[in-house]
Amino acid sequence: MQELHIALSSIADEGEHKQINNNDMAWDVLAKEHNLICKNINLTADVFLLPQSDKSVLIQGTLTGSLELPCVRCTEMFYYTINEKFDIYEEFEENEADKSEVLHKKQNTIYLDLQAVLWEQLALAIPFINLCTENCVGLCAICGAKKDDPACVCETEEGDTRLAILRKLKI
Ligand SMILES: [Zn+2]
Ligand SMILES: [Zn+2]
Repeated sequence: MQELHIALSSIADEGEHKQINNNDMAWDVLAKEHNLICKNINLTADVFLLPQSDKSVLIQGTLTGSLELPCVRCTEMFYYTINEKFDIYEEFEENEADKSEVLHKKQNTIYLDLQAVLWEQLALAIPFINLCTENCVGLCAICGAKKDDPACVCETEEGDTRLAILRKLKI
C-alpha cells in the first residue's frame, strides 16, 4: 500500500513521480461516500508532484483503466474506459471558504491527499448521463424487459393496429 497523504515538505524540490495502483486506493469506500453506483473499478494513476512553494503544488498525471456503470435507460451495467489527463495547481489556504479539498494542515504540516485528487479526476471523467450505448432503447414500461428483447411482446403505440388505422384517416 502506498501512502496517499503526502506532506508537501517531503516532496523533492525537483518533483517526484508516484505510481498508484488500483489497490492503493479505497475506490469502493469513496464510491459509497459519494453515492456513485459502480463496480469493478480498476484504475492506475501516474502522477508527478512538483512543489511550487511550501504551501502549493503542481499535480500532473494520468488516470487510466475502467469501471462498470449502470445505464440510466436500461439499468444494465456496462464497461466504461477512463483515460483522464490532468494538470492542476493546488494551494493551501488558511481561510475556510477558499480551502482546497485536497490539502490539509495537521500539526503545522500541510498534507496533500492524493486519494482525493484521484477521486476528483474520476468524477470528472464519468459522463453526466451514463448510457450503455448511444441509442439504448431502454426498458419496456409494461413488462420491464429491454425493449429490443424478443421476450417483450407488449403492444406499444407504434405497434397498435387500431392507432395505425387512425393515422391513415384523412381529415
Ligand atoms: Zn442501456
Ligand atoms: Zn414489454
